[in-house]
Amino acid sequence: MSEYSITFGPIPSRRLGRSIGINNIPPKICSYGCIYCQIGRALKVEDQRKAYYSTREVVEAVGEKVKTVQNAGEAIDFLTFVPDGESTLDIHLGEEIQQLKSLGIPLAIITNSSTMDRQDVREDLKNLDLVSAKVDSVIESLWRKTNRPHKNIRLDSIMEGLRTFSREYNGKLITETMLIDGVNDTRENLEQTAEFIHSLNPYAAYISIPTRPPARTDIKPASEEVLNLAYQIFSSKIDRVEMLLGYEGNAFAHSGDTEKDILAITAVHPMREDAIEEFLQRDQKDWDLIQKLVDEDKLLETEFQGKKFYLRKLAKHQRIGRRRGDSRE
Ligand code: SF4
Repeated sequence: MSEYSITFGPIPSRRLGRSIGINNIPPKICSYGCIYCQIGRALKVEDQRKAYYSTREVVEAVGEKVKTVQNAGEAIDFLTFVPDGESTLDIHLGEEIQQLKSLGIPLAIITNSSTMDRQDVREDLKNLDLVSAKVDSVIESLWRKTNRPHKNIRLDSIMEGLRTFSREYNGKLITETMLIDGVNDTRENLEQTAEFIHSLNPYAAYISIPTRPPARTDIKPASEEVLNLAYQIFSSKIDRVEMLLGYEGNAFAHSGDTEKDILAITAVHPMREDAIEEFLQRDQKDWDLIQKLVDEDKLLETEFQGKKFYLRKLAKHQRIGRRRGDSRE
């Protein structure tokens, strides 16, 4: 048995509800070396699938964890392959998925998409209920700069693999695009990446920023203005777009606490001025509340195509880029 724990959680996640994480490969083994990775320079960059744990080790560890959590009366919404590295580098992944199905709990994976050009990986992933695929950039130079892939990995092959997968897959495919200030947050990249994600017809596209400290302290999340721009561009091409800014909270509940509700919604979608006015009216509140949130540095007012939008202001630690970031929840 390994020194590392194969399971962790359950952890709450907006995408996956209460999820038990599965570390199906040892930490720090990845096909990318993303500039925003919290593991950073210690990463071992690999491009081939290998055996790390036996299928039995993984399946037994997950079974025990599920039993413990369920005996404690806690709900589990997903079992999620999300190691500190790239989940699909595990050559036993397909067998693990097959065997874990008998637990009757939905299965998910968070992948950096780098192995999507492999048919065996696509076959393995087809048996999952949800696949979250990283798409930070479809422009070669920006992809290299952001994700720093293993030298054998080709962007055009990954894109083709993702397109093939999206045509064959019957589960929920979601994408995640991490935006880094001054790196992949250009309008050109946002337009082209959104266009490509549109071609995948995903269930939802998420726009995210580092919410935990990267190993490199010079890495900053994209600004709120760029996040708003990204949201508008993505929404013009993709049906369901959400932001992941590191705030939890239920954006879809109307709790009656107007301030809390507006902060929860604007962490997921920028709200247009008229939508906020409608919301305030419904709760019989006036614009003073919004002004107060702007003054308190909780909401940011920004413009797009002549209209005012409001979005949740990033926490100070996110703005100065001193916290680490990763796609892992
Ligand atoms: S952020 Fe994820 S995909 Fe990127 S290097 Fe780190 S573990 Fe790998």
